[in-house]
Amino acid sequence: MTCCPPTAKAKNIELKSEVSRDVPAQLIGDPLRLRQCIINLVGNAIKFTSIGSVSLRIGITSSLDPANCRLVIHISDTSIGMDEEGISKLFQKFSQADSSTTRRYGGSGLGLAISQHLVRHMGGEIKATSEPGKGSQFTFEAELPIDKTDIADSANPVKSTPRSIEKGRSARILGADDDRVNHMVFKQMIGLLGHETVAVKNGQEAVTSARNEEWDLILMDVQMPVMDGVEATRILRSDPATASIPIIAVTASIMSAEQSHYLDSGFSAVLPKPLRRETLKSCLDHWLKA
Ligand code: ADP
Repeated sequence: MTCCPPTAKAKNIELKSEVSRDVPAQLIGDPLRLRQCIINLVGNAIKFTSIGSVSLRIGITSSLDPANCRLVIHISDTSIGMDEEGISKLFQKFSQADSSTTRRYGGSGLGLAISQHLVRHMGGEIKATSEPGKGSQFTFEAELPIDKTDIADSANPVKSTPRSIEKGRSARILGADDDRVNHMVFKQMIGLLGHETVAVKNGQEAVTSARNEEWDLILMDVQMPVMDGVEATRILRSDPATASIPIIAVTASIMSAEQSHYLDSGFSAVLPKPLRRETLKSCLDHWLKA
């Protein structure tokens, strides 16, 4: 890859990208390293394509370790392609498909060797298939631990803003969950953080309570009988009296698509279940300002 590859737009090439809905919202890894590999492969695809398109797809495949996510990154193009000999030399340092490539496209023949090295550090391997005149396909996998600790604080400033708590008073937090054990968890954790809490057992009770009493924040389990958290939040957001209360979704789901669905449904932020004291604290610090 050259340092300034031509953009797809400048070459009039269609650039498509798709991230599968089951890719977790947060992973632990080196974003620079991952980005460098993707940019290198997409940059090459654009560089060697003159007509057609380049697509980037990111999905997941099963990992042997349930704490990890195994990403699959696939880049395909309608480039000049390569013959078998070209493919066999792809990952060697300073190698290019043939000498006319250097004259026509420039480059050092180093990009893929470096990317392969980085991908191996992420537990994967870049593989390529291609045919002259028929484009190329590059795929690699990267195994990354799933970050379950900090899905919180995905602030949604349109619907709710942090509450100001006057000096000398403790914040009043309503917890809605159908599980009595979680009521005890709420009470204990919130109490230790110096706030007051009352727990109710479903969304309907949360709506009634929010209409009758002043709450600074609501912690809302997403799945509850009678009325779930999404429906309760929709009702609270549609009533001017309760529309701006920070409502935090509490969910066991780590899927980014579900989390963005909750934020779109009116929740202010999403906290992972089981609740952890540090995560809850940083969320409350954000949404309750002294
Ligand atoms: P360079 O900096 O020369 O692009 P790379 O290591 O990134 O070095 O690529 C090595 C060679 O592999 C390129 O010079 C080109 O011949 C071939 N190549 C890489 N990607 C593609 C692609 N998407 N389509 C066709 N040929 C490619």
